[in-house]
Amino acid sequence: MRITRKVFHDLAIWQVGFGLCIGLVFPPFVMLLGVPRDTALTPQFFAACLFAGALSGVVNYVISRRVVGARLRILAERMTHVEQSLGSMTSSGDLSGCTPAECSIVVDSEDEIGESALAFNRLVEALSASMRTQLAVRSFSEMLTSQLEIESLAHEALRQFFEHAGAAGGLILYEAAGELKVAASRGLRDPLAVAASGHVDAAVRSGERQVVTIPDDVRLEGVLADFRPGEVLVFPVTYKNFPLGVVVLAAGGAFSADQRALIDLFLQGLGLALNNAIAHDRLQNLAALDPLTGLYNRRFGLGRLHEEFGRALRVTAPLGVLMLDIDHFKAVNDTYGHLVGDRVLKSVCSIARSSLREGDILLRYGGEELLAVLPAASTEDLRQMGERLRQAVEDSAVSDGEKTVRVTLSAGGAAYPNQNVEHEDGLIRLADEALYRAKDGGRNRVEIAR
Ligand code: GH3
Ligand code: MG
Ligand code: MG
Repeated sequence: MRITRKVFHDLAIWQVGFGLCIGLVFPPFVMLLGVPRDTALTPQFFAACLFAGALSGVVNYVISRRVVGARLRILAERMTHVEQSLGSMTSSGDLSGCTPAECSIVVDSEDEIGESALAFNRLVEALSASMRTQLAVRSFSEMLTSQLEIESLAHEALRQFFEHAGAAGGLILYEAAGELKVAASRGLRDPLAVAASGHVDAAVRSGERQVVTIPDDVRLEGVLADFRPGEVLVFPVTYKNFPLGVVVLAAGGAFSADQRALIDLFLQGLGLALNNAIAHDRLQNLAALDPLTGLYNRRFGLGRLHEEFGRALRVTAPLGVLMLDIDHFKAVNDTYGHLVGDRVLKSVCSIARSSLREGDILLRYGGEELLAVLPAASTEDLRQMGERLRQAVEDSAVSDGEKTVRVTLSAGGAAYPNQNVEHEDGLIRLADEALYRAKDGGRNRVEIAR
């Protein structure tokens, strides 16, 4: 029934044509109603009927165009607006330009036009939902590629789970040396208790997600009081089927289907990123830590001493170093074997590490020689710290079956600016000389350069 390429032109032709037809058949029709032939079949009457038919066709056309055309114009304008908004949203990432109020059409007719408007509104909703997902995944992926440290990666990931996936509490754990460690937590009352809970254990053992409804052992931090979440999801994070960690997400109510789908998308990328971060962490540890004792190795530790000495020089702050050496350690090896010697060495290292303050640096300087770098420590602080350490080692013991192995420790210290040295090597040399004096003085002693 198409005549031209424009629907309204077709409509005009049909309506005027139909009006003319009516004008043509009207004179014979009125004769049937009793109008005399010489009145009905005159050219003037024919002309009047044709004119009236054509006029009614034109008026019909104008009315249709006004009623239907106006609605179609609104549809077309909204579609153009949505198209432009979606274009700018894709490039800017800002979804506020197309709210339902701005981009949807008021549905006020129960016909094809109303149905078209409804279908259009549904399409806009579906498009903006898919746009939101796309932008959230894009922002998550960008975050994943910009974070290399495990903790900062986990913090950022949790922030995005909160922002996009409706989480009100969360925890990310990663596996290190056979145990799960907390990489980041947010909004949870007691993250360590959640980490130790049966849900996490079940997820690790089964390798499958756990959905817990209104759990007893998880509490969220509220503004006024803690509260119990409506739902907790526990996901194992894997990379190439190798378990890397666990993500725990809690919602006040329940996660919607869309939120769960988004969480699944996020988790796919998180596996690879967590794997990279763990590998990066291991590499850094390999470069910095001594494998036997877990202390800083000599190269890395002396680098840290260099930094601390530079800072102490700049602000003329005190800095002390203590050189520690186990007494007669060769005899321990000779008597009990190297494996027991290793255990004794590790035990002395762990005593030394736990005796130091935060900010102090402990490195394995040589075989069984350790160097402790103590920022802000004066000569007197060094003496006290050395004495405390010496006493702790003297009081400790390592068991070897029936036997108990005990060792003692000698220490030599030197502190800047008490010792007016210009380089950290000078401090190390003075501490070493003090250590020799401690050995010469009978061992199990502390000597500080004066
Ligand atoms: P002192 O320091 O009191 O003079 O006597 P010492 O027997 O400790 O003497 P020295 O410092 O010369 O000997 C260090 C010994 O430490 C020699 C070496 O076999 C042992 N040693 C060094 N590193 C390790 C290690 O990683 N494991 C074990 N088991 N022994 C080590
Ligand atoms: Mg020794
Ligand atoms: Mg030695």
